[in-house]
Amino acid sequence: MSSRITEARAFLVDIAVETERTDAIQSFEKQETVFVEVKTSDGLTGLGYSYTIGTGGRAVLSMLRDHLVPRLIGLDADRIEAVWFALYSATRATTTGAITSLALAAVDTAMWDIGAQRAGLPLWRLAGGSRRDVPLYDTEGGWLHLPTETLVEGALASKAAGLSGVKLKIGKPTGSEDLERLRAVREAVGSGFDIMVDANQSMTAAEAIRRARLFDGLDLAWIEEPLPADDIEGHRRLVASTATPIAVGESMYSASQFREYLVRGAAGIVQVDVARVGGITPWLKVAHLAETHNVDVCPHFLMELHVSLAAAVPNGRYVEHIPQLRAITRTQMEIVDGRALAPETIGLGIDWDEDAISDRTVA
Ligand code: MG
Repeated sequence: MSSRITEARAFLVDIAVETERTDAIQSFEKQETVFVEVKTSDGLTGLGYSYTIGTGGRAVLSMLRDHLVPRLIGLDADRIEAVWFALYSATRATTTGAITSLALAAVDTAMWDIGAQRAGLPLWRLAGGSRRDVPLYDTEGGWLHLPTETLVEGALASKAAGLSGVKLKIGKPTGSEDLERLRAVREAVGSGFDIMVDANQSMTAAEAIRRARLFDGLDLAWIEEPLPADDIEGHRRLVASTATPIAVGESMYSASQFREYLVRGAAGIVQVDVARVGGITPWLKVAHLAETHNVDVCPHFLMELHVSLAAAVPNGRYVEHIPQLRAITRTQMEIVDGRALAPETIGLGIDWDEDAISDRTVA
């Protein structure tokens, strides 16, 4: 018996950031969280979501309400690929584009929620079930405005809690300022603890090559988004110039963009983001594609959802610790011995607090 989509709606929820978050090019103002709720003829309800860090949320909502949500009614809920492709095909004039990919992701995560409920499985098992626990690193203590002492305290606290690493923002006006901050943290935590750095696309290839060399000897786990995401050739040159892995992916909005990076040897780690790439359906394609290139996946942000996806695939190496859904969930992602545990709850495994969500609904 087939299951049809009978109802769907989209709405926007604003969530304040828990701490001030800054990097070399922007600050994280608030999480605009775009939800899609889908109901089926056999009585299931899926709740999916997507986000921005402060701009474009209403554009995503309009794309959903004006174009995508009305097209869902009557579609077969068990055919997730067909639903994704029907919506993708209906928005050709704005694909590939950030607003459309974010809108597709809100629908696609709702479809996977329904699929997991029907299968009676938690997402991490349905999507592959590689292993339940994934190493965790912290980003919340590494923002660019924080003084060096605070970075050191945060890194020591993460190490004491059993986490495997911390990420520090870089992109101070001079390389020596960055170096001083990183060196202080490395000296404090010692060896055998990962330090990742993130430039948030702020550099030219020439400057990134220079700073990567300056950081030699700090044993960095990776340098993240050193250059604008469009500069694939610059990334390729940087990769060829340094022994430190180069990580990219949070600013890519289609699976094919990852293929370009991987085929050209321009990325050592991929950080595909389920919202920005257009949902769980393309996320899994990117993760599997990376596996065929012998490259690990360390998804960007969204730990509450990415924990299940990183656990699903064999090359899911890390979950990024930035709690953001505490205000609208009843229970939190489980952390045991410093590792993130994928929820065993059936569905996406996010324990939504409906009252808190409706209190924060702005459109
Ligand atoms: Mg980043």
